[in-house]
Amino acid sequence: MKLKNINGTSDNKCACGSWIKHWEKFSGQSTCYCQAKGCLNVDVVGAHVQKANSSDDNWYIYPLCNAHNKHTGELEVSSTYKLVSANKQKTCEK
Ligand SMILES: [Zn+2]
Ligand SMILES: [Zn+2]
Repeated sequence: MKLKNINGTSDNKCACGSWIKHWEKFSGQSTCYCQAKGCLNVDVVGAHVQKANSSDDNWYIYPLCNAHNKHTGELEVSSTYKLVSANKQKTCEK
């Protein structure tokens, strides 16, 4: 699937402590690796993303490395891992 990164949101914290914990908690999944295609970096963070080529403009969290978290434009990622809503009112702070 294709995602696009949302920049300037990285210091926005939630009740989970970090966005990667938020992603693990609500996806029920975990990963040691960045899930951008071909990337094996292990400095994984919970990146704020939107679906590319979609009318869905909700914000999601997805595991990416620091470098890919700063990437602009579209990013091809693994479909194995779930997108978790970044809307705190619908997840950890409801
Ligand atoms: Zn959270
Ligand atoms: Zn990466």
